[in-house]
Amino acid sequence: MAKSKVLIIGGTGYLGKRLVKASLREGHETFVLSRREVGVDIDKVEMLISFKMLGAHLVPASFADHSSLVDAVKLVDVVICAISGVHIRSHSIMLQLHLVRAIKEAGNVKRFLPSEFGTDPARMEKATEPGNVCFRDKMVVRKAIEEAGIPYTYVSANCFAGYFVGGLCQFGKILPSRDSVVIHGDGHKKAIYVVEDDIASYTIKTIDDPRTLNKTLYIRPPKNILSQREVVHIWEKLIGKELDKVTISKEDFLASMKDLDYGQQVGLGHYHDVLYEGCLTNFEIGSEGEEASQLYPNINYTTVEHYLIRYV
Ligand code: NDP
Repeated sequence: MAKSKVLIIGGTGYLGKRLVKASLREGHETFVLSRREVGVDIDKVEMLISFKMLGAHLVPASFADHSSLVDAVKLVDVVICAISGVHIRSHSIMLQLHLVRAIKEAGNVKRFLPSEFGTDPARMEKATEPGNVCFRDKMVVRKAIEEAGIPYTYVSANCFAGYFVGGLCQFGKILPSRDSVVIHGDGHKKAIYVVEDDIASYTIKTIDDPRTLNKTLYIRPPKNILSQREVVHIWEKLIGKELDKVTISKEDFLASMKDLDYGQQVGLGHYHDVLYEGCLTNFEIGSEGEEASQLYPNINYTTVEHYLIRYV
């Protein structure tokens, strides 16, 4: 079977750039949306040009121009969107409703992967406010996709390593400390950590896989299902030093929200749900989902231990 042609939207983003490279690496003819709004943002333009030099096609289009979106999606079989969805950076999830309309009108797309790549929003009805806004928005997009009859795969990638492992799972930190660490609650709730390049590899593997059509792909690398204390312990072994540990109760953690701006409150809500509630590991994957490391055992995923070496 010929490999699908892929359009990546949000291709210059934190995750998007990895998706572009993984798609090219896997031999897919790869198209990257080049938004006119990028203007003279030289970093983005240079990145787009670097994709072109790797063999990608740049497709000029804009979310403000419906026909340009329709023309773009007509070029491909699969659309992957990695538009922004982290409030401390930017949050554009609802723009995807334009994309859904364009995909429906174009009528040729065999699979759409919307910008998800985190906690499964379908399981987050009780998420902490205001962090729940992300899940609500992602569910609105899912509803539009399913009502339009567009074939889909949702990717639940759990915790990006760069955000969570880098900071030893401490809210507001992305570099590991060498002296002390704040432990959330008892520090024993398990979460799941996935390196961003691996998320991209699993995502590209799944686009032509009939087993994940109209399903959720959960990425749960077995060695990376760890508690905060286990992550900290791995780091302590690497630097040969035990960190001082201060624990913060759930109540104190939530109370600290009041001094934060909105974007940080959203983030804190997510950390609460992951580290105090164990929202990533408190369910079994049912018949509506598949697990990535089982489907694609040939992907040699990066373990948390290996990942942390970069910070030593
Ligand atoms: P980024 O913040 O890096 O943004 C991605 C792209 O979104 C940008 O490069 C840009 O695309 C596009 N974009 C931003 N604003 C607009 C706009 N106004 N109009 C059109 N396009 C816009 O995104 P991330 O990589 O951080 O996030 C991608 C996904 O991953 C999200 O769904 C997010 O929720 C999820 N995520 C999950 C995490 C986890 O730990 N599980 C952590 C971080 C993110 P262009 O290239 O066209 O300029």
